Amino acid sequence: MAQTVVEPRDMDWLDKGVLGIEWSDGHKGIYPVRYLRQHCPCAACTDEWTGELRITPDDVPMFIAVTDIEPVGRYALKFTFSDGHDTGLYSYAFLRRVCQCDVCVPVKPAESRSRRLL
Ligand SMILES: [Zn+2]
Ligand SMILES: [Zn+2]
Repeated sequence: MAQTVVEPRDMDWLDKGVLGIEWSDGHKGIYPVRYLRQHCPCAACTDEWTGELRITPDDVPMFIAVTDIEPVGRYALKFTFSDGHDTGLYSYAFLRRVCQCDVCVPVKPAESRSRRLL
């Protein structure tokens, strides 16, 4: 085996509006639905060239739900949101990057804001 592809092994609603994804490497990811919608990687929400968000977080309704989750090939998940938006393909790599669990979140801001520039 040359490369291990990390895939979702299990998915569950941890709380209202909070999706939990257990990955094949054992990591338990936490994804608030509103956060996922705010960081939608589709061309309408994220600039393809700069990676900058075209939507502001306030554009997303306070109460938003996921009405459907569909696997795309073996690399991504397609979410359909209750505001009708369904063009975002959330690749597994992207989902791992935006994971909001306690293990992933405290490390990220410090690393990207200061250390990287030095
Ligand atoms: Zn989008
Ligand atoms: Zn995590």
